[in-house]
Amino acid sequence: MSPSAAPRRCPICDSEPRRSFRLSNAAPLLRCPRCALGWWPWPAFEPKLFYDHQYFQSANLERGYGDYASLEPGLRHMARSRLRRIARVLEARPGDTVPGTVSTPRVFDIGCGTGCFLEEAGRAGWEAGGCEVSAHAADRARARGLAVTCTPIEQLDLPPNRYDCVALWDVAEHLRDPLGALAKAAGALRPGGVLALSTGDITSLCARLSGPRWHLFNLPEHLYFFSPGSLRKLLIRVGCRVRHMTREVSWVPLAYVLERLGKSVGGRERPVRLPRGANWVVPATLFDVLGVYATRGTPTRRYPPCSATEPRL
Ligand SMILES: [Zn+2]
Repeated sequence: MSPSAAPRRCPICDSEPRRSFRLSNAAPLLRCPRCALGWWPWPAFEPKLFYDHQYFQSANLERGYGDYASLEPGLRHMARSRLRRIARVLEARPGDTVPGTVSTPRVFDIGCGTGCFLEEAGRAGWEAGGCEVSAHAADRARARGLAVTCTPIEQLDLPPNRYDCVALWDVAEHLRDPLGALAKAAGALRPGGVLALSTGDITSLCARLSGPRWHLFNLPEHLYFFSPGSLRKLLIRVGCRVRHMTREVSWVPLAYVLERLGKSVGGRERPVRLPRGANWVVPATLFDVLGVYATRGTPTRRYPPCSATEPRL
């Protein structure tokens, strides 16, 4: 059962948080002095209702995306890049499975959205499945022929030791219980399998320079704000070891970059329409989003204390 209210102590290392500045909704940002995890005293929040059709196609950009479908070319480019990275980590750490003995590697995408990553994974030879809390997005994914269930990760039973990769792209910051979700993801991996995720870095230069105006203080959607240290500790607690941590580069349509810039400076809050044929996909990064690739070690016990040494792989 996922907690309905924000934690009073750091859920990763159990430290007493300190109050930082106030966020846009006047709530104080809470920071763990040990691992730098950030969160805010969020109220009850129902993701199923929030991520509706309008979230993916919003006329006024008050929340969500102007036109999520227009991002697909960039999402596919990123998916292929991520799949190559996952393959490299798997090849370097084959775990208990000898490469070549498994005919089809399996991936499960938690919070798979409309299914771009899963579709690219299928094209690359993976057996691909996922879950998505938004009924609208899950319908889109199923319309592509993907095996996607509209179930929150908190209510999903994943079979143990089944997957070569479990992914959470831009999902952990939305979860009320990221520790529980990552423990579930890690338990579904075979030893040596890859837990791959992306999330914002609250210790990045962009976040520190932006203060309360950091674009990833996106309330009420984002509940937690991670740091490299908090992610390492979190992954150790669920029996994984970080193999590769990188700054993500997004590939997005130029119109989307202009749309977000307009929103950031408080000006135009309407989708930008470029001339026909000018829908270029460009790399964009503020170096404030982390890509993390960890492998599952030999499980010790559920939720070991974070002071434990990293699991032997
Ligand atoms: Zn902490």
